[in-house]
Amino acid sequence: MVMHEPVTDALTQVHARLAGLRDGRLADYIPQLALADPDAFGLALVSMEGHQYRAGRAQTPFTVQSVSKPFVYALVLAELGPAEVTRWVDAEPSGEAFNAISLEPGTGRPANAMINAGAIACTALVPGPTGARRFDRILGILSRFAGRALDVDESVYASESASGNRNRALAYLMSSTGSLPGDPSEAVDTYFRQCAVRVTAVDLAVMVATLANGGTNPVTGKAVVPEPVAVQVLAVMASCGMYDASGKWLLRVGLPAKSGVAGGLVAASPARFGVAAFSPPLDPAGTPVRGAAAMRELSERFGLHLMHNPARSAPTVSLSSRQEERVTLVAAQGAIDFTAAERLLHELSPVALETGGGVVLDLADVMNVDACATAMVRAALTDLCAQGHPVAVVGRLGSAAAGPGWRSFVSRQEAVAWCAEAPSGRL
Ligand code: GLU
Repeated sequence: MVMHEPVTDALTQVHARLAGLRDGRLADYIPQLALADPDAFGLALVSMEGHQYRAGRAQTPFTVQSVSKPFVYALVLAELGPAEVTRWVDAEPSGEAFNAISLEPGTGRPANAMINAGAIACTALVPGPTGARRFDRILGILSRFAGRALDVDESVYASESASGNRNRALAYLMSSTGSLPGDPSEAVDTYFRQCAVRVTAVDLAVMVATLANGGTNPVTGKAVVPEPVAVQVLAVMASCGMYDASGKWLLRVGLPAKSGVAGGLVAASPARFGVAAFSPPLDPAGTPVRGAAAMRELSERFGLHLMHNPARSAPTVSLSSRQEERVTLVAAQGAIDFTAAERLLHELSPVALETGGGVVLDLADVMNVDACATAMVRAALTDLCAQGHPVAVVGRLGSAAAGPGWRSFVSRQEAVAWCAEAPSGRL
Protein backbone atom coordinates (compact mmCIF):
# COMPACT_ATOMS: atom_id res chain seq x y z
CA MET A 1 0.00 0.00 0.00
CA VAL A 2 1.23 3.48 -0.84
CA MET A 3 0.89 5.87 2.08
CA HIS A 4 0.59 9.50 1.17
CA GLU A 5 0.27 11.37 4.42
CA PRO A 6 -1.80 14.41 3.35
CA VAL A 7 -4.61 12.25 1.97
CA THR A 8 -4.56 9.80 4.89
CA ASP A 9 -4.48 12.80 7.25
CA ALA A 10 -7.52 14.35 5.54
CA LEU A 11 -9.47 11.08 5.79
CA THR A 12 -8.42 10.62 9.42
CA GLN A 13 -9.48 14.16 10.33
CA VAL A 14 -12.87 13.79 8.62
CA HIS A 15 -13.31 10.41 10.30
CA ALA A 16 -12.45 11.79 13.75
CA ARG A 17 -14.79 14.77 13.35
CA LEU A 18 -17.79 12.69 12.23
CA ALA A 19 -17.37 9.56 14.38
CA GLY A 20 -19.37 11.24 17.17
CA LEU A 21 -22.44 11.89 14.96
CA ARG A 22 -25.31 10.00 16.56
CA ASP A 23 -28.11 10.75 14.08
CA GLY A 24 -29.83 8.12 11.96
CA ARG A 25 -31.25 4.66 12.51
CA LEU A 26 -30.21 1.16 11.49
CA ALA A 27 -32.26 -0.41 8.68
CA ASP A 28 -34.51 -2.94 10.37
CA TYR A 29 -36.85 -4.05 7.60
CA ILE A 30 -34.17 -6.69 6.87
CA PRO A 31 -33.86 -8.10 10.45
CA GLN A 32 -30.22 -9.17 10.09
CA LEU A 33 -29.17 -5.56 9.27
CA ALA A 34 -30.59 -4.34 12.59
CA LEU A 35 -27.79 -6.31 14.32
CA ALA A 36 -25.07 -4.06 12.82
CA ASP A 37 -22.73 -2.03 15.06
CA PRO A 38 -24.01 1.58 14.82
CA ASP A 39 -20.55 2.91 15.74
CA ALA A 40 -18.72 1.15 12.90
CA PHE A 41 -17.33 3.84 10.60
CA GLY A 42 -14.70 3.51 7.88
CA LEU A 43 -13.49 5.61 4.95
CA ALA A 44 -11.42 4.58 1.93
CA LEU A 45 -10.15 6.39 -1.13
CA VAL A 46 -8.49 4.92 -4.23
CA SER A 47 -6.73 7.04 -6.85
CA MET A 48 -6.51 6.47 -10.59
CA GLU A 49 -3.01 5.10 -10.02
CA GLY A 50 -4.44 2.51 -7.61
CA HIS A 51 -3.05 4.20 -4.49
CA GLN A 52 -5.19 3.32 -1.47
CA TYR A 53 -5.87 5.46 1.61
CA ARG A 54 -8.09 4.60 4.56
CA ALA A 55 -9.30 5.66 7.97
CA GLY A 56 -11.27 3.80 10.67
CA ARG A 57 -13.08 0.53 9.94
CA ALA A 58 -12.27 0.43 6.22
CA GLN A 59 -11.65 -3.34 6.26
CA THR A 60 -14.84 -4.35 8.12
CA PRO A 61 -17.11 -6.53 5.96
CA PHE A 62 -20.77 -5.63 5.41
CA THR A 63 -23.30 -6.37 2.67
CA VAL A 64 -23.19 -4.31 -0.50
CA GLN A 65 -27.01 -3.93 -0.79
CA SER A 66 -27.96 -1.20 -3.27
CA VAL A 67 -24.37 -0.23 -3.94
CA SER A 68 -24.43 -3.34 -6.19
CA LYS A 69 -26.95 -1.67 -8.50
CA PRO A 70 -24.63 0.55 -10.60
CA PHE A 71 -22.23 -2.36 -11.12
CA VAL A 72 -24.92 -4.80 -12.27
CA TYR A 73 -26.31 -2.03 -14.50
CA ALA A 74 -22.79 -1.78 -15.97
CA LEU A 75 -22.79 -5.54 -16.58
CA VAL A 76 -26.04 -5.53 -18.56
CA LEU A 77 -25.07 -2.36 -20.47
CA ALA A 78 -21.80 -4.05 -21.47
CA GLU A 79 -23.56 -7.30 -22.42
CA LEU A 80 -26.70 -6.00 -24.15
CA GLY A 81 -25.88 -2.42 -25.16
CA PRO A 82 -27.65 0.76 -24.05
CA ALA A 83 -30.53 0.55 -26.56
CA GLU A 84 -31.68 -2.90 -25.37
CA VAL A 85 -31.23 -2.04 -21.68
CA THR A 86 -33.17 1.22 -22.07
CA ARG A 87 -36.06 -0.74 -23.61
CA TRP A 88 -36.43 -2.42 -20.18
CA VAL A 89 -35.13 0.22 -17.74
CA ASP A 90 -35.43 3.99 -18.23
CA ALA A 91 -32.85 6.57 -17.04
CA GLU A 92 -35.09 9.17 -15.37
CA PRO A 93 -34.88 10.21 -11.70
CA SER A 94 -37.99 8.89 -9.97
CA GLY A 95 -38.04 11.43 -7.12
CA GLU A 96 -39.28 8.58 -4.96
CA ALA A 97 -37.98 6.19 -2.30
CA PHE A 98 -35.77 3.19 -3.11
CA ASN A 99 -38.62 0.67 -2.96
CA ALA A 100 -41.30 2.79 -4.67
CA ILE A 101 -43.45 1.45 -7.47
CA SER A 102 -41.90 3.87 -10.00
CA LEU A 103 -43.12 2.19 -13.16
CA GLU A 104 -43.98 3.99 -16.40
CA PRO A 105 -47.76 4.16 -16.88
CA GLY A 106 -48.75 1.87 -19.72
CA THR A 107 -45.47 -0.04 -20.15
CA GLY A 108 -44.54 -0.81 -16.52
CA ARG A 109 -40.90 0.09 -17.28
CA PRO A 110 -38.97 1.11 -14.12
CA ALA A 111 -37.76 4.73 -13.94
CA ASN A 112 -34.06 3.92 -13.50
CA ALA A 113 -31.60 1.19 -12.54
CA MET A 114 -30.82 2.66 -9.09
CA ILE A 115 -34.25 2.03 -7.54
CA ASN A 116 -35.23 -1.50 -6.56
CA ALA A 117 -37.64 -2.05 -9.48
CA GLY A 118 -34.99 -1.07 -12.05
CA ALA A 119 -32.28 -3.04 -10.28
CA ILE A 120 -34.43 -6.21 -10.20
CA ALA A 121 -35.05 -5.75 -13.95
CA CYS A 122 -31.26 -5.38 -14.54
CA THR A 123 -30.61 -8.55 -12.53
CA ALA A 124 -33.20 -10.35 -14.68
CA LEU A 125 -31.49 -9.06 -17.85
CA VAL A 126 -28.12 -10.64 -16.99
CA PRO A 127 -27.63 -13.32 -19.63
CA GLY A 128 -27.61 -16.92 -18.34
CA PRO A 129 -29.67 -20.11 -18.51
CA THR A 130 -30.50 -20.24 -14.76
CA GLY A 131 -30.66 -17.91 -11.77
CA ALA A 132 -27.54 -19.59 -10.36
CA ARG A 133 -25.54 -18.97 -13.55
CA ARG A 134 -26.77 -15.37 -13.70
CA PHE A 135 -25.65 -14.91 -10.12
CA ASP A 136 -22.20 -16.32 -11.00
CA ARG A 137 -21.92 -13.63 -13.67
CA ILE A 138 -22.94 -10.97 -11.14
CA LEU A 139 -20.50 -12.17 -8.47
CA GLY A 140 -17.83 -12.34 -11.19
CA ILE A 141 -18.23 -8.74 -12.29
CA LEU A 142 -18.54 -7.38 -8.73
CA SER A 143 -15.29 -9.24 -7.94
CA ARG A 144 -13.53 -7.81 -11.01
CA PHE A 145 -14.68 -4.30 -10.03
CA ALA A 146 -13.29 -4.93 -6.51
CA GLY A 147 -10.12 -6.65 -7.73
CA ARG A 148 -10.62 -9.68 -5.46
CA ALA A 149 -12.97 -12.66 -5.09
CA LEU A 150 -16.07 -11.59 -3.12
CA ASP A 151 -18.56 -13.89 -1.39
CA VAL A 152 -22.11 -13.87 -0.01
CA ASP A 153 -23.25 -13.30 3.57
CA GLU A 154 -25.71 -16.20 3.72
CA SER A 155 -27.41 -14.97 6.91
CA VAL A 156 -28.23 -11.56 5.37
CA TYR A 157 -29.40 -13.30 2.19
CA ALA A 158 -31.71 -15.58 4.20
CA SER A 159 -32.97 -12.64 6.27
CA GLU A 160 -33.83 -10.55 3.22
CA SER A 161 -35.37 -13.51 1.45
CA ALA A 162 -37.60 -14.14 4.48
CA SER A 163 -38.70 -10.49 4.67
CA GLY A 164 -38.52 -9.30 1.05
CA ASN A 165 -42.15 -9.43 0.03
CA ARG A 166 -42.21 -5.84 -1.17
CA ASN A 167 -39.44 -6.61 -3.67
CA ARG A 168 -41.33 -9.79 -4.68
CA ALA A 169 -44.44 -7.64 -5.23
CA LEU A 170 -42.44 -5.26 -7.43
CA ALA A 171 -41.10 -8.16 -9.50
CA TYR A 172 -44.53 -9.76 -9.96
CA LEU A 173 -46.05 -6.39 -10.85
CA MET A 174 -43.40 -5.79 -13.52
CA SER A 175 -43.80 -9.34 -14.79
CA SER A 176 -47.58 -8.84 -15.11
CA THR A 177 -47.05 -5.83 -17.39
CA GLY A 178 -44.36 -7.62 -19.44
CA SER A 179 -41.60 -5.33 -18.17
CA LEU A 180 -39.57 -8.06 -16.43
CA PRO A 181 -37.98 -10.82 -18.51
CA GLY A 182 -38.05 -14.40 -17.14
CA ASP A 183 -39.34 -15.81 -13.89
CA PRO A 184 -40.06 -13.07 -11.28
CA SER A 185 -39.33 -15.27 -8.25
CA GLU A 186 -35.96 -16.29 -9.68
CA ALA A 187 -35.13 -12.67 -10.56
CA VAL A 188 -35.85 -11.45 -7.05
CA ASP A 189 -33.95 -14.36 -5.44
CA THR A 190 -30.89 -13.52 -7.56
CA TYR A 191 -31.31 -9.86 -6.58
CA PHE A 192 -31.37 -10.79 -2.85
CA ARG A 193 -28.10 -12.75 -3.27
CA GLN A 194 -26.59 -9.80 -5.15
CA CYS A 195 -27.52 -7.44 -2.29
CA ALA A 196 -25.96 -9.87 0.23
CA VAL A 197 -22.49 -9.87 -1.39
CA ARG A 198 -19.93 -8.99 1.28
CA VAL A 199 -17.58 -6.04 0.76
CA THR A 200 -15.45 -3.59 2.74
CA ALA A 201 -15.10 0.18 2.30
CA VAL A 202 -11.76 -0.48 0.57
CA ASP A 203 -13.50 -2.86 -1.89
CA LEU A 204 -16.18 -0.26 -2.61
CA ALA A 205 -13.57 2.46 -3.15
CA VAL A 206 -11.76 0.25 -5.71
CA MET A 207 -15.08 -0.57 -7.39
CA VAL A 208 -16.16 3.04 -7.79
CA ALA A 209 -12.61 4.11 -8.70
CA THR A 210 -12.93 1.66 -11.60
CA LEU A 211 -15.97 3.59 -12.84
CA ALA A 212 -14.14 6.91 -12.32
CA ASN A 213 -11.22 5.44 -14.28
CA GLY A 214 -13.30 4.74 -17.42
CA GLY A 215 -14.04 1.09 -16.56
CA THR A 216 -10.46 -0.08 -15.92
CA ASN A 217 -9.66 -1.27 -12.39
CA PRO A 218 -6.84 1.05 -11.23
CA VAL A 219 -5.46 -1.59 -8.85
CA THR A 220 -5.45 -4.68 -11.12
CA GLY A 221 -5.02 -2.70 -14.36
CA LYS A 222 -7.72 -4.87 -15.97
CA ALA A 223 -10.54 -3.46 -18.13
CA VAL A 224 -13.82 -4.45 -16.44
CA VAL A 225 -16.32 -2.61 -18.67
CA PRO A 226 -15.86 -0.37 -21.74
CA GLU A 227 -15.43 3.37 -21.14
CA PRO A 228 -18.86 4.44 -22.57
CA VAL A 229 -20.52 2.03 -20.12
CA ALA A 230 -18.65 3.58 -17.16
CA VAL A 231 -19.72 7.06 -18.35
CA GLN A 232 -23.38 6.03 -18.64
CA VAL A 233 -23.39 4.40 -15.20
CA LEU A 234 -21.84 7.50 -13.59
CA ALA A 235 -24.41 9.70 -15.34
CA VAL A 236 -27.30 7.65 -13.94
CA MET A 237 -25.64 7.62 -10.49
CA ALA A 238 -25.41 11.43 -10.67
CA SER A 239 -29.10 11.87 -11.48
CA CYS A 240 -30.67 8.91 -9.65
CA GLY A 241 -28.13 7.35 -7.25
CA MET A 242 -29.44 8.91 -4.05
CA TYR A 243 -33.14 8.15 -4.68
CA ASP A 244 -35.42 11.08 -3.74
CA ALA A 245 -32.42 12.95 -2.29
CA SER A 246 -30.54 12.92 -5.65
CA GLY A 247 -31.17 16.57 -6.51
CA LYS A 248 -29.95 17.92 -3.17
CA TRP A 249 -26.99 15.54 -3.27
CA LEU A 250 -25.91 16.81 -6.70
CA LEU A 251 -26.34 20.36 -5.44
CA ARG A 252 -24.37 19.95 -2.22
CA VAL A 253 -21.85 17.19 -2.93
CA GLY A 254 -21.78 17.27 -6.73
CA LEU A 255 -20.47 13.73 -7.29
CA PRO A 256 -22.10 10.61 -8.80
CA ALA A 257 -22.89 8.39 -5.82
CA LYS A 258 -24.79 5.34 -4.58
CA SER A 259 -25.86 4.34 -1.11
CA GLY A 260 -26.90 0.99 0.39
CA VAL A 261 -29.07 0.17 3.42
CA ALA A 262 -26.26 -1.71 5.20
CA GLY A 263 -24.34 1.58 5.43
CA GLY A 264 -22.18 1.52 2.29
CA LEU A 265 -21.83 4.71 0.26
CA VAL A 266 -19.67 5.32 -2.82
CA ALA A 267 -18.89 8.49 -4.76
CA ALA A 268 -16.83 8.93 -7.92
CA SER A 269 -14.69 11.89 -8.84
CA PRO A 270 -14.24 11.15 -12.55
CA ALA A 271 -10.59 10.78 -13.61
CA ARG A 272 -9.50 11.56 -10.03
CA PHE A 273 -10.56 8.90 -7.53
CA GLY A 274 -13.23 6.72 -5.98
CA VAL A 275 -14.23 7.17 -2.36
CA ALA A 276 -16.31 4.93 -0.11
CA ALA A 277 -17.73 5.11 3.39
CA PHE A 278 -19.19 2.50 5.72
CA SER A 279 -21.45 3.52 8.60
CA PRO A 280 -24.79 1.75 9.19
CA PRO A 281 -27.15 4.45 10.67
CA LEU A 282 -29.37 5.91 7.93
CA ASP A 283 -31.35 9.14 7.59
CA PRO A 284 -35.07 8.98 6.63
CA ALA A 285 -34.17 8.93 2.88
CA GLY A 286 -32.03 5.80 3.47
CA THR A 287 -28.69 7.65 3.19
CA PRO A 288 -25.90 6.68 5.62
CA VAL A 289 -25.57 9.74 7.89
CA ARG A 290 -21.81 9.74 8.60
CA GLY A 291 -20.94 8.64 5.06
CA ALA A 292 -22.96 11.47 3.51
CA ALA A 293 -21.39 14.03 5.84
CA ALA A 294 -17.93 12.68 4.99
CA MET A 295 -18.56 12.96 1.23
CA ARG A 296 -19.81 16.53 1.68
CA GLU A 297 -16.69 17.46 3.57
CA LEU A 298 -14.28 15.77 1.19
CA SER A 299 -15.99 17.32 -1.83
CA GLU A 300 -15.78 20.82 -0.34
CA ARG A 301 -12.27 20.40 1.00
CA PHE A 302 -10.82 19.05 -2.25
CA GLY A 303 -13.00 21.22 -4.60
CA LEU A 304 -14.55 18.16 -6.28
CA HIS A 305 -18.05 19.36 -7.23
CA LEU A 306 -18.65 18.30 -10.85
CA MET A 307 -19.78 21.81 -11.79
CA HIS A 308 -16.78 23.42 -10.15
CA ASN A 309 -14.48 24.96 -12.76
CA PRO A 310 -10.96 23.95 -11.80
CA ALA A 311 -8.30 26.62 -12.22
CA ARG A 312 -6.30 26.08 -15.36
CA SER A 313 -2.78 25.03 -14.47
CA ALA A 314 -1.13 26.96 -17.32
CA PRO A 315 -2.25 28.69 -20.52
CA THR A 316 -2.23 26.52 -23.64
CA VAL A 317 -0.63 29.11 -25.89
CA SER A 318 2.80 29.95 -24.46
CA LEU A 319 3.96 32.17 -27.33
CA SER A 320 2.33 33.82 -30.33
CA SER A 321 4.44 36.19 -32.44
CA ARG A 322 5.54 37.26 -35.88
CA GLN A 323 8.98 36.00 -36.87
CA GLU A 324 11.12 36.94 -39.84
CA GLU A 325 8.32 39.24 -41.11
CA ARG A 326 6.45 36.49 -42.97
CA VAL A 327 6.12 33.79 -40.35
CA THR A 328 3.59 33.48 -37.52
CA LEU A 329 4.87 31.35 -34.64
CA VAL A 330 2.48 29.79 -32.14
CA ALA A 331 3.87 27.60 -29.35
CA ALA A 332 1.68 25.45 -27.09
CA GLN A 333 2.21 23.61 -23.83
CA GLY A 334 0.51 21.09 -21.56
CA ALA A 335 -2.14 18.54 -22.54
CA ILE A 336 -4.24 19.41 -25.58
CA ASP A 337 -7.90 18.39 -25.37
CA PHE A 338 -10.97 19.96 -27.01
CA THR A 339 -10.80 23.10 -24.86
CA ALA A 340 -7.06 23.58 -25.31
CA ALA A 341 -7.34 22.94 -29.07
CA GLU A 342 -10.00 25.63 -29.31
CA ARG A 343 -7.61 28.11 -27.63
CA LEU A 344 -4.81 27.09 -29.94
CA LEU A 345 -6.80 27.31 -33.16
CA HIS A 346 -8.33 30.62 -32.16
CA GLU A 347 -4.79 31.96 -31.84
CA LEU A 348 -3.60 30.43 -35.06
CA SER A 349 -6.15 31.14 -37.72
CA PRO A 350 -6.92 34.88 -37.85
CA VAL A 351 -3.29 35.95 -37.49
CA ALA A 352 -2.09 33.53 -40.11
CA LEU A 353 -4.83 34.46 -42.52
CA GLU A 354 -4.04 38.16 -42.13
CA THR A 355 -0.36 37.81 -42.76
CA GLY A 356 -0.77 35.31 -45.54
CA GLY A 357 2.68 33.96 -44.73
CA GLY A 358 4.03 30.84 -43.13
CA VAL A 359 2.76 29.28 -39.92
CA VAL A 360 4.91 27.46 -37.37
CA LEU A 361 3.08 25.42 -34.72
CA ASP A 362 5.53 24.47 -31.98
CA LEU A 363 4.27 21.47 -30.00
CA ALA A 364 7.64 20.57 -28.43
CA ASP A 365 6.35 21.35 -24.90
CA VAL A 366 3.02 19.58 -25.40
CA MET A 367 2.60 16.46 -23.26
CA ASN A 368 -0.30 14.85 -25.04
CA VAL A 369 -2.82 15.64 -27.80
CA ASP A 370 -6.03 13.60 -27.45
CA ALA A 371 -7.87 12.14 -30.45
CA CYS A 372 -10.48 14.90 -30.63
CA ALA A 373 -7.85 17.68 -30.45
CA THR A 374 -5.66 15.90 -33.02
CA ALA A 375 -8.56 15.85 -35.49
CA MET A 376 -9.31 19.55 -34.84
CA VAL A 377 -5.71 20.69 -35.27
CA ARG A 378 -5.14 18.49 -38.33
CA ALA A 379 -8.26 19.91 -40.00
CA ALA A 380 -7.14 23.49 -39.29
CA LEU A 381 -3.60 22.86 -40.60
CA THR A 382 -4.98 21.15 -43.70
CA ASP A 383 -7.11 24.25 -44.37
CA LEU A 384 -4.11 26.57 -43.95
CA CYS A 385 -2.10 24.45 -46.40
CA ALA A 386 -4.98 24.45 -48.89
CA GLN A 387 -5.02 28.26 -48.70
CA GLY A 388 -1.37 28.30 -49.72
CA HIS A 389 0.32 28.96 -46.36
CA PRO A 390 3.58 27.13 -45.75
CA VAL A 391 2.91 25.22 -42.49
CA ALA A 392 5.54 23.67 -40.22
CA VAL A 393 4.95 21.64 -37.06
CA VAL A 394 7.60 21.17 -34.38
CA GLY A 395 7.08 17.90 -32.47
CA ARG A 396 4.33 15.36 -33.01
CA LEU A 397 0.62 15.81 -33.59
CA GLY A 398 -1.08 12.63 -32.37
CA SER A 399 0.74 9.58 -33.74
CA ALA A 400 1.72 11.25 -37.06
CA ALA A 401 4.67 13.59 -37.38
CA ALA A 402 3.59 15.25 -40.63
CA GLY A 403 0.20 15.53 -42.36
CA PRO A 404 -1.16 16.44 -45.77
CA GLY A 405 0.74 19.50 -46.92
CA TRP A 406 2.69 20.44 -43.79
CA ARG A 407 6.27 19.71 -42.83
CA SER A 408 7.58 18.38 -39.56
CA PHE A 409 10.70 19.72 -37.80
CA VAL A 410 12.64 18.85 -34.68
CA SER A 411 13.67 22.42 -33.82
CA ARG A 412 11.82 25.71 -33.87
CA GLN A 413 14.70 27.50 -35.61
CA GLU A 414 14.65 25.07 -38.54
CA ALA A 415 10.88 25.35 -38.84
CA VAL A 416 10.95 29.17 -38.87
CA ALA A 417 13.82 29.23 -41.36
CA TRP A 418 12.00 26.83 -43.68
CA CYS A 419 8.74 28.81 -43.46
CA ALA A 420 10.50 32.09 -44.14
CA GLU A 421 12.04 30.68 -47.31
CA ALA A 422 9.08 28.58 -48.52
CA PRO A 423 7.06 30.08 -51.35
CA SER A 424 3.57 31.03 -50.26
CA GLY A 425 0.85 29.97 -52.69
CA ARG A 426 -1.34 32.84 -51.66
CA LEU A 427 0.92 35.83 -52.20
N1 GLU B 1 -31.61 -5.14 -0.49
C1 GLU B 1 -32.21 -3.87 -0.26
C2 GLU B 1 -33.64 -3.88 -0.71
O1 GLU B 1 -33.91 -4.25 -1.79
C3 GLU B 1 -31.44 -2.81 -0.94
C4 GLU B 1 -31.98 -1.42 -0.72
C5 GLU B 1 -30.91 -0.38 -0.53
O2 GLU B 1 -29.77 -0.73 -0.23
O3 GLU B 1 -31.22 0.84 -0.70
O4 GLU B 1 -34.54 -3.56 0.01
